[in-house]
Amino acid sequence: MIARLAIRSLLPAIIPLFIMTAQTPSATAQDVADRFDKVKVRDVISRRFTQQEMYGWLTPIVQAGTVRTTSAGTSAEGRTINLYRYGTGPVKVLLWSQMHGDESTATMALLDIMSFLRAEPGHPISRAVRDRLTVLMLPMINPDGAERFTRRTAQAIDMNRDAMRFTTPEARVLKSVHDAERPDFGFNLHDQDTRYTVGTTRQITAIALLAPATDETRADNAVRLRAKRVAAGVATVLGRFIPGKVAKWDDTFEPRAFGDNMQRWETSTVLIESGGWAGDPEKMHLRKMNFVALLFALHEIATGSYERNDPAPYEALPFNMRLAFDVIIRNAKLQTSPGIPAAIVDVGINVTPGTDSTEVVASVEDIGDLSTYTAYKVYDAAGAELDARLVILENKLTAEQLRSLLPQN
Ligand SMILES: [Zn+2]
Repeated sequence: MIARLAIRSLLPAIIPLFIMTAQTPSATAQDVADRFDKVKVRDVISRRFTQQEMYGWLTPIVQAGTVRTTSAGTSAEGRTINLYRYGTGPVKVLLWSQMHGDESTATMALLDIMSFLRAEPGHPISRAVRDRLTVLMLPMINPDGAERFTRRTAQAIDMNRDAMRFTTPEARVLKSVHDAERPDFGFNLHDQDTRYTVGTTRQITAIALLAPATDETRADNAVRLRAKRVAAGVATVLGRFIPGKVAKWDDTFEPRAFGDNMQRWETSTVLIESGGWAGDPEKMHLRKMNFVALLFALHEIATGSYERNDPAPYEALPFNMRLAFDVIIRNAKLQTSPGIPAAIVDVGINVTPGTDSTEVVASVEDIGDLSTYTAYKVYDAAGAELDARLVILENKLTAEQLRSLLPQN
C-alpha cells in the first residue's frame, strides 16, 4: 500500500519525463525530415528566383493567417523587404537569409518552414514554437542582389561588411528590426563556396556552422555560449543526416559583419553556411538539411533543451579548408615542353557552368601531387598523356577542351 501510494505520488513527476524522452532529439529531427516532401513549397525548383516570385509563394501562407507580415523597409532599388512573424511567445528569434543575393538555399528553407507551420499547426514543434517563441523571419534581405543573382547589393556593396557604417538601406533594415525587437537568438543564413572541405578529411563541406566571436580575443561570454549550445544541437543532428560533412566556419572576428555584431548586440547568433552536395547543383538536399536544422533548433530554443547541450560537438567540428576541386585528373602524364622529362601528375580543375560549348567554363588550378585533395569528379588517367597546350596553370578551358582532357573511362 505504501509502495503503491509512493508510485502514485511519483507519477506526475514521471509522466512528463516519459513524454520528453519518448521523442528524442534525433527522432524530432527525423520526424520533420520525413514531412519535408509533403510540406515543402513545391513551386521552388531552382535556387535562382526573384523577390516577386518569393512573395507569390508566400501569399497563400500569409492569407491563411499562419504568419503576419509587415514592411521592414525598402532596398536601394525600392523593393519592399517584408518581415514575417510567427507565434506570440516571450523568446524572440530572428532569422535572416540571402544578405548575399546568390545565396538562396536557406531562403528556400524558410519558405518551407512557413509552409510546414501552415500545414501542421497541431504538430508539437509548431505548438511549442508558437506558444513560447516569437519567430521573426527576413527571407531575402538583399532582394536587388537576388534579382541579378549576385552577391552584392545594387550599390555594389557587400552588406555583410556594412554592420558598422550602415551605408546600405538593406543593412539599416536589418539593424532596425534588431533594435525594434531585441531578439534573444539569431540565425544568419548563407551559402559558402562549394569547394570547402571538412578540415583535411577530404569530405566536401555540406553545412558549416559558427557561433561568431564578439571580439579579437574570441573569448566566450554568456551570449556566445548560448549560441554555441544551440549550434552543438544542430551539429549533432546534422551529424546523423550528413555524417562527416559538417564543418566550422572561420571564427576570426570581423568587426563589420552582422553575425559578429548581432552577438555583440546580445542576440545569441548562429551562422549556417550551406556548401556543396555532389550531383545537386540546385541545392535541394541542403535546402532540406536547413529545414531540418532550423526547425530542430527552434524547437530546442522553445523547450529550453538547448541549455543542456554541451558545446563540445560544435567545438569539435573541423574548420573549413580549401582542399577540393570540381575535377581532378589523377595519374596523368604531362610533358610541359620538349626536352623536359615528362612527369606523372594530378591536375585540379574548377568549372563554372557556361551556356554554350565555346564559352570558357573551366580553369586549371593546380598541377602536381593533389593526393590531399578531393573533387566532385575524380578521373584516373592511368598514365595517359594530357595535351600540354591545355594543361597550363591558370589556363582557361572551353567545355570542348575540358571534355578532350577527360579520360574516357
Ligand atoms: Zn554569404
